[in-house]
Amino acid sequence: MKIKVLKFGGTSLANGNQFKKVSKIIKSDPERKYIVVSAPGKRFADDVKVTDMLHKCFTMAKNNENIDEAFQKIEDRFNEIINELNLDFSLDNEFKNIKAAILHHGSSDYLLSRGEFLNAMILAEYLGFDFIDAQKLIYFNEDESFDEHTTYKVLASILRSHEYAVIPGFYGSMPNGKIKTFSRGGSDITGSIVASAIKANIYENWTDVSGMLMADPRIVDNPKVIDIISYSELRELSYMGATVIHEDAIFPVRKSAIPINIRNTNQPSDNGTKIVPSALRQEDDKMITGVAGKIGFSSITVEKGMMNPELGFARKVLEVFEKHKIPFEHLPTGIDTMSVIVNTSSIIDIVDDISVEIYRDVKADNIKFDHGLAMIAIVGRNLVESKGAAARLFTALCKADIDIKMIDQGSSDLNFIIGVSENNYAAAIKAIYSEFVEKH
Ligand code: ASP
Repeated sequence: MKIKVLKFGGTSLANGNQFKKVSKIIKSDPERKYIVVSAPGKRFADDVKVTDMLHKCFTMAKNNENIDEAFQKIEDRFNEIINELNLDFSLDNEFKNIKAAILHHGSSDYLLSRGEFLNAMILAEYLGFDFIDAQKLIYFNEDESFDEHTTYKVLASILRSHEYAVIPGFYGSMPNGKIKTFSRGGSDITGSIVASAIKANIYENWTDVSGMLMADPRIVDNPKVIDIISYSELRELSYMGATVIHEDAIFPVRKSAIPINIRNTNQPSDNGTKIVPSALRQEDDKMITGVAGKIGFSSITVEKGMMNPELGFARKVLEVFEKHKIPFEHLPTGIDTMSVIVNTSSIIDIVDDISVEIYRDVKADNIKFDHGLAMIAIVGRNLVESKGAAARLFTALCKADIDIKMIDQGSSDLNFIIGVSENNYAAAIKAIYSEFVEKH
C-alpha cells in the first residue's frame, strides 16, 4: 500500500469545525497514514495563534507578571476544540505541567512546542490514531543543527510499529533530551522529514489556500494557481518572496525525490499545487511558472577604468562586504563597472565606511549608491531557451512605462531577474503577469 504523509497547518486545526474537515480528509483515504500537525492557528483575522499566546506567557513569567489570565486563554482554546468534538478527553494534567514549567522558567523552546504537542494529542484521540511525541522521533546535534542520521534511523523504525499515527510538528530533542524547535512555521519541516524517513509516496501539505499562486494576490487580482512546479523553480520563487511552505521543508523530500502536494483544507476538491523533482514543459504550459519579487534593495556600483583585466578586483570589493557580514544578492558586471546588489537594511548605517574601504582597497574611480530598488524574478522551466521571452518581457515593461535598472540572466536557465525602482514594483509585476499569463 502507498504511504501518504500529511501535514495540517494552524488554520486547518484552529477549532472543532476545522478538525472535522481534517478528519474527513484523512479518513477518505486509507493511504493517509501519518499526520503532522501545527498548533491551533487563527480562527478569524484578529485572532491570536496559540504559539504566540505561549510566547506571551513565557515573556510575562520572565518579567514576573501574573500569567493566570493569559494561560487560561490557552486552556480555553484547547477545551473549546475538545468540547466542539464531543470528546471524553481531558488535557488538565498537561495544562498543569505546562503552567508549572512556565512559572519555573522552563526553556522557551519547550513552551513554544506545547501547542503542537497538545493539538496532536487531541487529533490522535479524535481519529483513533496513535500519538507519537516528536521528542522521540526528531533529533538535533549538539550544535543545534538537524541530526539527519539519528532521526531517519529512529523514525523509520518507530513508525514501522504504528500503522496510523499523529505526530506534533515543529520540534524534536537535543542530545540531552531537551526540547528544541525549528524556526517558526517549522511543522512543514517535520512533515517533510517524516515523509522522507519512511519513503512516503507523497507529502501532502494542507493549508488554507488552494496552492501556490502565479503572482502576489495583493498586487494581481485573482492570480492563477500553479498546477505543477519543480523544486528548483519553487526555490527561486520562494527566495523572491512567494511563500507557501517553509523554505527548509523542501530539502528532506527533495533528496528522496518525493513530491509535495499543497492542498486546501477548506476546498479539498481543488488539486492544489504539485511540487515535483523536475517538471517537463508541456504543450499547453504557460511560458512562465510564476513571478515574484521584493523591495528594499540597494545597488553599489564600483567604476574603475581597465577594471576587467585586473586580477582580484571583484574579490577585493566583495571582501569589504564580507568583512561587514553583508551577503550580496546579485552581482551584475559591465566592462569597467561592477554592481553589488544587497538588502538596503544591511548597509544603510554603514554606507560611508563601505565607500571609504572600497576606494581604499581597489582604488575605484567612482562609487555610486542607489537605494529604493525592487528585484523581480520571472521564473519558468526552459524560459530562457524559449524564443521571444526576453522580447515579450522588455516590451511589456516598456509599454507600462517602466525603466529597467538591472538585468541578470544567464546564470540560471530558470529565470530572468530584473531590478526596477520600488515605485514601479507593483506596475511591473502586473505588466509581466498580464503579458505572460493573461495573454498566454
Ligand atoms: N506553531 C508554530 C508557528 O506558529 C509552528 C508551525 O505552525 O509550523 O510558527
